[in-house]
Amino acid sequence: MNPLHWPVRMHIASVGVSKFCFLFSLAFCGFLLLLIPALQPPTRQVDLPQPRPQVRPARSGPSHNARVPAVSVHAGETDPTIERNGSSAGQGGSIENEVTRTDNHIPKSGTDSKRGALPGGQVAGRSGSKPRDLLELRDIFIAVKTTRKYHKSRLELLIKTWISQAKEQTYIFTDGEDKELRMRTGANIINTNCSAAHTRQALCCKMSVEYDKFIESQKKWFCHVDDDNYVILPSLLQLLSSYHHSQDVYLGRPSLDHPIEAAERVKSDGSVSVKFWFATGGAGFCISRGLALKMSPWASLGNFISTAEKIRLPDDCTIGYIIEALLEVTLTHTHLFHSHLENLQKLPTDTVLEQVTLSYGGFENRRNVVSIVGGLSLAEDHTRFKTVHCLLYADTDWCPKLKPHHKN
Ligand code: UDP
Ligand code: MN
Repeated sequence: MNPLHWPVRMHIASVGVSKFCFLFSLAFCGFLLLLIPALQPPTRQVDLPQPRPQVRPARSGPSHNARVPAVSVHAGETDPTIERNGSSAGQGGSIENEVTRTDNHIPKSGTDSKRGALPGGQVAGRSGSKPRDLLELRDIFIAVKTTRKYHKSRLELLIKTWISQAKEQTYIFTDGEDKELRMRTGANIINTNCSAAHTRQALCCKMSVEYDKFIESQKKWFCHVDDDNYVILPSLLQLLSSYHHSQDVYLGRPSLDHPIEAAERVKSDGSVSVKFWFATGGAGFCISRGLALKMSPWASLGNFISTAEKIRLPDDCTIGYIIEALLEVTLTHTHLFHSHLENLQKLPTDTVLEQVTLSYGGFENRRNVVSIVGGLSLAEDHTRFKTVHCLLYADTDWCPKLKPHHKN
């Protein structure tokens, strides 16, 4: 080796070392940059509608002292409502590109134990996330399904009670003109022009119009009830406040203790069957706007009727089919919704005002009502809806005045 070359070599070597140091520090900085996201607190992967921290809504009534309603996780009871019917020709509502704005698509999760969610404030760790807008009653679209022959016997009671507290956002879907009722009560009554028959087609026709009107309304939540349901508005608001309307949320009471099975005639030719849960319409159910928008290919502008025809199932089953089978979003089971197919007397008295919907027995069992005590006798209030209403809104003019408390 020629010694003359030494300094040159050394120079080259020192250049090599500083180059190496430079490159090494660059790589180290890059590595540090890569570490930044990893050092952030882990964000949660959402795979089910996540309840939000509880925010107590302001109660419009003075006397209701309800606790946080508990949503149970188990899967339904046995009250088969498959005989409920539904469908014919819906009317318009416009769907913009709004569907693309929704937060998340929630994949179907496998087990029943994962269904349901507890809006009991368990997700306390979210306090650091950005504050969310408070849900108000006017954000909820409430659809009441009725028929001309029940305007007097059923609807008037609802208008006198809970609808009076939610007039602006409650829409009554019926099948016959009743200008007198509209004028006298100021209720939003929509004549769907659907058939007045209790057939699958006629009932699906009404549901189709309900859906289109909801989409048109721009409201955040769609809730459907029958004309024999009392809606406890503070509880409804509290329950829906646990979620965000851009999540995929389908809330209701399953009417069976197992999923229903139907021939798949939408995605295939009917040779395979599909299993899905659905919320019974007789107890009421709610759907977030985010999810409702995703339903539009099978639900909007008359498509609901053709979907129901394909699977030949009633309106509430068709809703379940679109959501669970086609969109692969799971029903969140809740027992806060009630139909008269269950034994309503079994509901503990001290939890009645915490429920979201109530009902009462029809002709088959007039005594199937909630057990609650107030200033009205069974003869004056056979449905118990007036009693519930007076407990919630004691200053209502027609409610019996509470007797002064006697001291011994
Ligand atoms: N209904 C209707 N058309 C009819 C009969 C009933 O739209 O011809 C509505 C009724 O107003 C109620 C729902 O369908 O909102 C369920 O009816 P009902 O309570 O009589 O029967 P259920 O299925 O609960 O036993
Ligand atoms: Mn009913």
